[in-house]
Amino acid sequence: MGNIGEMFGSMVFNDSVMMKRMPREAYEALKDTIREGRALERSVAEIAANAMRQWALEKGATHFTHWFQPMTGITAEKHEAFISPGRDGKVLLEFSGKELIKGEPDASSFPSGGLRATFEARGYTAWDPTSFAFIKDNTLCIPTAFCSYTGQVLDKKTPLLRSMEAINLQALRILRLFGRRDVRRVEPSVGAEQEYFLIDQEMLRKRPDLKLTGRTLFGARPAKGQELADQYFGALKSRVSAFMRDLDEELWKLGILARTEHNEAAPAQHELAPIYTNVNIATDHNQLTMEMMKKVARRHGMACLLHEKPFDGVNGSGKHNNWSISTDTGVNLLDPGKHPAENLQFLTFFAAVVKAVDDHQDLLRICVSSAGNDHRLGGDEAPPAIMSMYVGEELSGIIEAVCHNETYAQLKRASMETGVTRIPVFHKDTADRNRTSPFAFTGNKFEFRSVGASLSIAGPNIILNTIVADALASFADELEGQENLEVAVWELLRKTFRAHARILFDGNNYSLQWREEAQRRGLLNFKTAADAIPHFTDEKNVVLFEKHGIFTREELASRRDILLDNYAKVIHIEALTMLDMVRRDILPAIIRYSGELAQVAVQKQAIGLSFDCERVVIEELSSHAECIRQLTDALDEVASDIPVHGDIAQAAFRCRDGVLPAMRALRDEVDAAELITDAKHWPYPGYSEILYSVE
Ligand code: ADP
Ligand code: MG
Repeated sequence: MGNIGEMFGSMVFNDSVMMKRMPREAYEALKDTIREGRALERSVAEIAANAMRQWALEKGATHFTHWFQPMTGITAEKHEAFISPGRDGKVLLEFSGKELIKGEPDASSFPSGGLRATFEARGYTAWDPTSFAFIKDNTLCIPTAFCSYTGQVLDKKTPLLRSMEAINLQALRILRLFGRRDVRRVEPSVGAEQEYFLIDQEMLRKRPDLKLTGRTLFGARPAKGQELADQYFGALKSRVSAFMRDLDEELWKLGILARTEHNEAAPAQHELAPIYTNVNIATDHNQLTMEMMKKVARRHGMACLLHEKPFDGVNGSGKHNNWSISTDTGVNLLDPGKHPAENLQFLTFFAAVVKAVDDHQDLLRICVSSAGNDHRLGGDEAPPAIMSMYVGEELSGIIEAVCHNETYAQLKRASMETGVTRIPVFHKDTADRNRTSPFAFTGNKFEFRSVGASLSIAGPNIILNTIVADALASFADELEGQENLEVAVWELLRKTFRAHARILFDGNNYSLQWREEAQRRGLLNFKTAADAIPHFTDEKNVVLFEKHGIFTREELASRRDILLDNYAKVIHIEALTMLDMVRRDILPAIIRYSGELAQVAVQKQAIGLSFDCERVVIEELSSHAECIRQLTDALDEVASDIPVHGDIAQAAFRCRDGVLPAMRALRDEVDAAELITDAKHWPYPGYSEILYSVE
C-alpha cells in the first residue's frame, strides 16, 4: 500500500487542486458558490473546466461524464471522449465551460413516473459544484443534477440540495433568535454505515435467483447460522481482509473517508463505516462506495450482495443513517454541550426532531420502503415498520421534567432555592444502548436505522431535512417577536414534548408488546411498502413539500408511482425467476432422485431385501413434488394477473396480497424437499455452502 496521505483524494478535483490550478479570483468565486450556494459565473465555469481537463488528462483520463442519480436509485453516466477534430487530421482535447455546466443525456429510459413522456425525452444535467469532480475508470466524473426541460426534477440530488436549503433557512431563523449572528450556514452531516455480504463469485454463477434478483428465493436454513455469535467482530478471513484493504484504497483515492471495517452478525456479512460529512457529499460517496464494493469484490473472485435480505432466516443488511446538523462555525446543533444555557438551544433543535418524527412517521416509513427492505423491517434483527424514537434515560428524564413543570421561571426558582440546577449537565454518551430502535439519539446525532442496504440515502435525507426544517419553521413562527425568549422557548418545549411524547419509546422494539402498545398510542404501522407508499401524496405531504420548495404535487406523484412500480416489478421478476427455477431445475431434480431411489428399491426387492426406507423417502418426495407442482401453477396464475399497464397501485396490491403469499408457500415446500434430497441431485448450492464459501 502506498502512502495514505498521498493516495487520499488523489483522484478528486478537490479544494487544494482547485487552489493550485485556478487563478485566485476564479478560485474564490467558485468557493463562494460552494460555500454559500451563490450562482456561478460563466467565465468561472470556463476556467474551472480548463483546469479540470488539464488535471484529468495528466491523471490519464480520456473521457468525461456527467454523473447523476436518476430515480432508479443507482447512478448513471454517459461517457464522452475529450477529443474533437482539429486541423490536419489531428485531434484536439477539449472540454468547455458549457460542457461542464450542462449535459444532455438521452433521458428516455430513466423512470420519470409520468413526468416526461418518452417522445419528449429531453432532459439535462447540471453541474453541482458543491460535490467535487473525480476520476473513475479513466473518466472524469462530474456530479450533476438531472432535470427535464420543463424544469421538473428527475433525480435524487436536486431535491436533496433543495432540502438542505430548507433546513439551512429555518435553522438560521432559530439561531438568530438565540443571538448567533456569526453563523452563515447550517448543514446536515451524515455518516452512512453500510452492511453487505461477500460470497464466492462461483455461488452467484450457480444461483439464478441471486444473479437475477439479488437474493435467494429458495434455500433451507443452514445447520450453522449466527447462533454462536462467533462472526460479529471476529477475525477477518484473509480473502475478506484483502478485499477490504483494496476497497479502502479505492475509496481513499476518491476522497471517501472509509474508516471502520468489520464483520457483522451473520456469516459472510460485513460493514463499512465512513467518517461523516456533508449530506450531499455523503450521498455521492455512498453511491460510489456501493459501486466500488461490487467492483472490488469481483476483482477478488467474490460477489458483494447489497440486498436487504439475501438469505431468509439470516440477518439482513441495513444502512444506518447517522444524521446531525451543524454550523459553518463548527458547532453541532445536536450536541447538548456543557451549559444549561446552551442546552436551551440544543433542546429546541432536539424538540424539533421529536416533533418532526412524530408528525411525519408516514414519510419516514415511505422513504425506506422497497420490496427488498420489507423482508428486513420487523424481522428480529431490524426495527419494525413502526416509527419511534429512543432518546436515552437522561434525555427522557429532562423531557419528563420539562413536561411537568409549569414554566421555566418556576424551574429556575426551584434551582436557585435548592442550589441544584434542574437541567442537568449532559454527558456525551455515544453508547447506543438500544439497538432495536428505528430512530435513536446517540449522543450528538440521530441514527436512522430503518434504511435498507441497497437504497440511496438521498431519499431518507430529503425527508429528514424537510421534516425537521418544517418543525423549525413552526418554532420560528412562534418564537419570533416574543419579548421574553427564554420563557417562550420553555413554553414551546413543554407544549412540544407533551404533544409528541407518544413517539418516544426506550423499550424493545422487536417485541409483540410494543406493537400492541404502539397501536394504543396511535402510531402508524404500515406493514409493507405497498401500504406505505400511496400515502406519499397525502394532502399534508403535498403541502409540506410545496411549502419548502422540495417537490411540486406532480413531482411527488411521480415519485410515488415510481416507488410503487418498482415494488411490483421487483416482485414480479422474483416470481418469474422462481417459476423457472422450479420447473426447469428443482422439480426435475426431485423426480430424478426419486427415480434413483425407486431403482434401488427394485434391485433390493429382487434379492429379497426390505426397501422400507426407500419407499418412505420416495413417498415423501412424491408428496412434496405434487405440492410443489400445484403451488407453482398457483403462483403462475397470480403472477400473470398483475396488470402491466394501468393502475400501478393495483399492481402493487396484487403483489402484496397474491404473489408474495404464493411465493412464500412455494418456497416453504421446496425448502422442505431440499432437506430430504440427495445434495448431489440438488441443482443449487445450499445455504451452508454459500454462506461459508469465502475462506
Ligand atoms: P458506532 O455506531 O459504530 O458506535 P459511531 O457512532 O462513532 O460508531 O459512528 C457511526 C457513524 O456515525 C460513523 O459513520 C460516524 O462518522 C458517524 N457520525 C459520528 N458523529 C456524527 C455526527 N455528529 N453526525 C453525523 N454522523 C456522525
Ligand atoms: Mg451505529
